[in-house]
Amino acid sequence: MAPDILTLRRDFPTLAQIVNGHPLVYLDNAATTQKPQAVLDALNHYYRDTNANVHRASHALSGQATRAFEQAREKVARFIRAPSAQEIVWTRGTTEAINLVAYSVGRHFLKAGDEILISTLEHHANIVPWQQVATTTGAVLKVIPLTAEAELDLEAARELITSRTRLLAVGHVSNALGQVNPVTELIALAKAVGAVTLVDGAQAVGHFPVDVQTLDCDFYAFSGHKMFGPTGIGVLYGKTEWLEKMPPWQTGGEMIKTVSFEHTDFAAPPFKFEAGTPNIAGAIALGAAVDYLQEQNQTTLQRHEHELLQRLVEGLNSMSDIRVIGRPQAGAVSFVMDEVHPQDLATLLDMQGIAVRTGHHCAMPLMQALGLKNGTVRASLAFYNSADDVAALLAGIDKARELL
Ligand code: PMP
Repeated sequence: MAPDILTLRRDFPTLAQIVNGHPLVYLDNAATTQKPQAVLDALNHYYRDTNANVHRASHALSGQATRAFEQAREKVARFIRAPSAQEIVWTRGTTEAINLVAYSVGRHFLKAGDEILISTLEHHANIVPWQQVATTTGAVLKVIPLTAEAELDLEAARELITSRTRLLAVGHVSNALGQVNPVTELIALAKAVGAVTLVDGAQAVGHFPVDVQTLDCDFYAFSGHKMFGPTGIGVLYGKTEWLEKMPPWQTGGEMIKTVSFEHTDFAAPPFKFEAGTPNIAGAIALGAAVDYLQEQNQTTLQRHEHELLQRLVEGLNSMSDIRVIGRPQAGAVSFVMDEVHPQDLATLLDMQGIAVRTGHHCAMPLMQALGLKNGTVRASLAFYNSADDVAALLAGIDKARELL
């Protein structure tokens, strides 16, 4: 049965806006998603009714805040099928989660000559931290190339994964092209040579169910704000065996068991990686976003979103001056228009209330590999988008063409 998208959209107050005189057509979900009322209510409720610091439960409010904060950790664990909530570390987002692993694993377990393998499709957040690790340790950064169809070249990856590979860090879904990478195969190849594996799941969790046990990766990173939760909260899933042996990265309050001037004993994971007062409201509201998602018929919504994506790609492909880049499968669709700068097209779309993103999408090396010096226009979907949104974008491009 087709989901009732019009009813569901009422849960997202931002979507009801008029922008530049037109009803908002929000197609920038890969940058950040809109928030359902349930998430806004969770933030408000925390600050209004239970505001207190966590893990210092000597009074009632602090006890309530701690329970809600730790329940959110359990919800997130169940959401990605992590075996235990102790394997969920709160971070500010995907970027911080990857930096945590780069610091605590990369800088402490890698040595000169070890190889770190990423792919051409990575977001800068999954490139720069590894480059820094390579600089400080003498490890070598290797990059899986693209096929002629702009997809991750699995055959080339097979050649690149050798006994020298110590760490594989790869995106689950490309934020720039919307392609789903063959992470299961890559993780299996990396594990066969004993390498540590990290998946950047920023663009996956909001689009399809993720099961870290089936993936069998050592680490999985994602951001709350790309899955209908607030900004400033994110997650690093890490296998216990790794979280236990990794050193902490930031130090201070909350992450300790005992402190003297001579010595500090660290708390057990995940607290060992959560120095200082955490984003309590953010974590609780991310838990509310998980609840919201789980209340929906996710299979139906996923199918709906996928149909929209196909409709969008077909519509774009039917325009002779538009070229869709790669083979979009989830969320994002990147395209270029002959002789038109992406920013000019986006401005003309914005005038019609249509929000898309342009540029390099934090994937400069990918744009370079594709010879797209001005980047692309990227329209990115969420389940609350409708067939009308897709039609509006296609009509908006036609209108822009007339104006150009
Ligand atoms: N990786 C990917 C694939 C992303 O799309 C993003 C966000 N654009 C990030 C990492 C970084 O996420 P954040 O800015 O929330 O840390």
